[in-house]
Amino acid sequence: MPGAESAEERTTTPAPPPRDRNPTPQEKILSALPARADAVVIGGGVIGTSAAYHLAEAGVDTVLLERAGLGGGASAHTAGMVRTYFPGAPSTGQRAVRSLNAYHDFARHTAVPLALKRLGFMVLFTDEQQIAGFEAEQRAQRAVGVEVGLIGPREASGLNPLVDERAVLAAAWSPEAYHVDGLDIVRGYAAAARNHGARLFTHTPVTHIDDDNTVHTPQGRIKADTIVCTAGPWSGEVASMASVDLPLAPRTMEMLFTDVPPSPHREMPMTMHAASGLRIRSWKDRVLLAMGAPKAGEAREDWLGRIAEHLGTLFPALDGIGLHRAWSGDFDAAPDNRALIGEHPTRRFLYAAGFTGAGLCQAPAAGEKLRDLLIAQ
Ligand SMILES: Cc1cc2nc3c(=O)[nH]c(=O)nc-3n(C[C@H](O)[C@H](O)[C@H](O)COP(=O)(O)OP(=O)(O)OC[C@H]3O[C@@H](n4cnc5c(N)ncnc54)[C@H](O)[C@@H]3O)c2cc1C
Repeated sequence: MPGAESAEERTTTPAPPPRDRNPTPQEKILSALPARADAVVIGGGVIGTSAAYHLAEAGVDTVLLERAGLGGGASAHTAGMVRTYFPGAPSTGQRAVRSLNAYHDFARHTAVPLALKRLGFMVLFTDEQQIAGFEAEQRAQRAVGVEVGLIGPREASGLNPLVDERAVLAAAWSPEAYHVDGLDIVRGYAAAARNHGARLFTHTPVTHIDDDNTVHTPQGRIKADTIVCTAGPWSGEVASMASVDLPLAPRTMEMLFTDVPPSPHREMPMTMHAASGLRIRSWKDRVLLAMGAPKAGEAREDWLGRIAEHLGTLFPALDGIGLHRAWSGDFDAAPDNRALIGEHPTRRFLYAAGFTGAGLCQAPAAGEKLRDLLIAQ
C-alpha cells in the first residue's frame, strides 16, 4: 500500500507524497551531457537508481537520465511495503527474497540506513479453492526462500483483531514484510551510484532514440553502447522510441484512509483479501486501504460501495466507516503480472519494467539482473 512513507509519521490526515520539483543550481550545472557512455539508464525511480548503482559498482561507465526529479514517478506514490510472499508467483518471491536481503544490508553498500519496520503480511482465504491453491504452491514458495504458512481463522484474528474469524476459512501468514521509505531507497542508490562514478542527470527528458542508440534530450544527445529502460509506467513509451515493443499497460491505484475507528486498534500486519485484492493496514490512528481503482465505466460510488461491503464482511469494526481519498498513482503492469526484465534480441537495449505494484520489493534484484545481462553482452 501507500508510500508517502514520511507521511507515516504524521498524526493528521496524510498528504500526497512529494511530486516533482525545480532543478537545484547544482543540477543545472550538471546538465552538460557527455558524448557517450557504456550504459545510459532512462528513468530515475527505484529500478533505475538500483540499475545505475549496480552497473557503476561493476565498473560500467553509466549515465542516468531522469526527466523530473529522482524518485518523482511511481516510486513517490507507494505504500512503502516490501514483502516476499506473492501468491501464485514464486519467481517474483525469489526476486523479493534476494531484494529483502539487500535491504537489510543497504547501509553497508550505500551509506544510507533504511528504517525497515516489520509488519508481516496476511492473505485471507474465504473459499476452499484458495486454500488448495496455497497448498499446491507452498513447496515452490519455500524452495525460493519465502517464509509462509497456513494459519486458522483464530490465529488470523489474533494477528489482526479487526479480522472477523467467522468470515474467513484460513489465511496465509508471511512474517517477512516491512514498511520502508521508498524514497530512501532512491536516495541511497543514487548516492552510491555517484560514489562509483555514475553521472545522474535530472530534468533531462529523453525525447528520441536513433537506431544507433544515440539518445536525444533537450539538453543535448548522448551515444549509448547499451540503453537501459527503467521508465516505470512510461517504459512502453520510451521503448517505442527505440522501436522496441514492451507489452505494458499503466494501471492506477488509489489509496484511501478511514475515519478514526470508534475503538482504537493496535498496529496490524498488512492484510489482504485474496478474492478482491482489498488490502488494509494501520496508518497511525486510522486504517489505510487499497483496492485498485474504479473499473472502466464504474462509478466511483459503486467502487467505494464494493470496498465498504468487503470491509463490513471481513472487518466488522470498520462497517460503515467513512472513506477518504489519500493519494493515487500509476504503476506499470505486465500482462501476467510478472516483471519484464530482459534484453532485445538484436539491439543493445535492456529493460526492467512491469513490476505491477511491487517495484520496491524487487528493485535490488532487478538492478543485479540488468548488470549481469549487460556484462554478458
Ligand atoms: C498507489 C501505489 C502504491 C504502491 N505501493 C507499493 C508498495 O507498497 N510496494 C511496492 O513494492 N510497490 C508499490 N507500488 C509500485 C511501485 O510504485 C512501482 O513498482 C515502482 O515505483 C516502480 O519503480 P520504477 O523505478 O520502475 O518506476 P518510477 O518510479 O515511475 O520511475 C520511472 C522514472 O522514469 C522517468 N521517465 C519517464 N519517462 C522518461 C523519459 N522520457 N525520459 C527520462 N525519464 C523518464 C519518470 O519521471 C520516473 O521518475 C505502488 C504503486 C502505486 C501507484
